[in-house]
Amino acid sequence: MASPTLADLLSQPEPPSASAPPLLVAEDLFKTYRKGPVGVPVLQGVNLTVRQGEFVAVIGQSGSGKSTLLHLLGTLDRPDSGEVRFEGNRIDNLPAAGRDILRNRHIGMIFQAYHLMPELSALENVLAPAMIRFGVMSYLKRRRQIRRRGEELLERVGLGHRCRHKPREMSGGEMQRVAIARSLMSCPRLLLADEPTGNLDRENGDEVLKLLGELHRDEQLTVVMVTHDPQIAARADRTVTLASGKMQAAGAQAA
Ligand code: ADP
Ligand code: MG
Repeated sequence: MASPTLADLLSQPEPPSASAPPLLVAEDLFKTYRKGPVGVPVLQGVNLTVRQGEFVAVIGQSGSGKSTLLHLLGTLDRPDSGEVRFEGNRIDNLPAAGRDILRNRHIGMIFQAYHLMPELSALENVLAPAMIRFGVMSYLKRRRQIRRRGEELLERVGLGHRCRHKPREMSGGEMQRVAIARSLMSCPRLLLADEPTGNLDRENGDEVLKLLGELHRDEQLTVVMVTHDPQIAARADRTVTLASGKMQAAGAQAA
C-alpha cells in the first residue's frame, strides 16, 4: 500500500479520543496520610484528564502514590483538597451512599490481588454487584436475565466453562479474568485497574492485558491502569508518570 501523502494526513480526522469529551477529570488533588503528628504527603497537586474511550496508563515507582490516586478516582477515599469529576459531575464529595452507587453501576475496579470472595463460585462472584444493586426481591425477579449476563461475561473472558469453580480452584490469571468480568457486570463507563498483572507471570499477565485491550478497542471501555512497569504501561494508548506527588507528561502524546 502506498504511504499516505502529507495532504492525506492533514485531511484525516483526529483520532476519536482526542476530540471525545472528558469522562474523568482529577484537578489539583492533594492527599497526605496522617498518623498522630506524622504526615506522609503522597499526592501534591495531581491533574489528570481521561477522555471517553481512552486507555491511559499511570506509571510510577512503588510508593509513588498510584494506588492512592486510583482510590481517589474511584471514590474509595477522599482527597484533602482538589476535585474529581466523572461525566462532568463532582464525585469526590458525594456522601457514602452516592459513592457506593457510583462504584456499583458506573465505575469498575480491578486490583492486583483480585479480591474475589473465596466462598463464592466464579459466576456468583460476577453476579455479586447485581445482587447488591437490586436487592433480594428485585434480583429474584430478574434472576434469569442477570444470570445470563454473568455467564456471557465469563464466556467473554474465556471462562464460560469455569462458572461453578471457586477461586481456590483457579489460577491467578483466571481469577483476574473473573474479577474483570465482575467489574463489567453493570456495564461501567470506566474501568480502574491497580497493577492488574502484578501477581501474574508473564504469560497470564499478557492474557489479562490483551483482554483489557480488546475491551477497550471493541467495547469502547475507558481504562485507567496504574503500574510500575514501563512494558506494561506501553500497552495503553497514552502514558503519564506520577513522581514527586505530581503527574508529569511522558512522551510526545501525553497531555
Ligand atoms: P503505590 O501504589 O504507588 O505503591 P501507594 O499509593 O500505595 O503507592 O502509597 C504511597 C505512599 O503512601 C507510600 O509511602 C505508603 O507507605 C503511604 N501510604 C499508603 N497508604 C497509607 C495509609 N493508609 N496510611 C499511611 N501511609 C500510607
Ligand atoms: Mg499500589
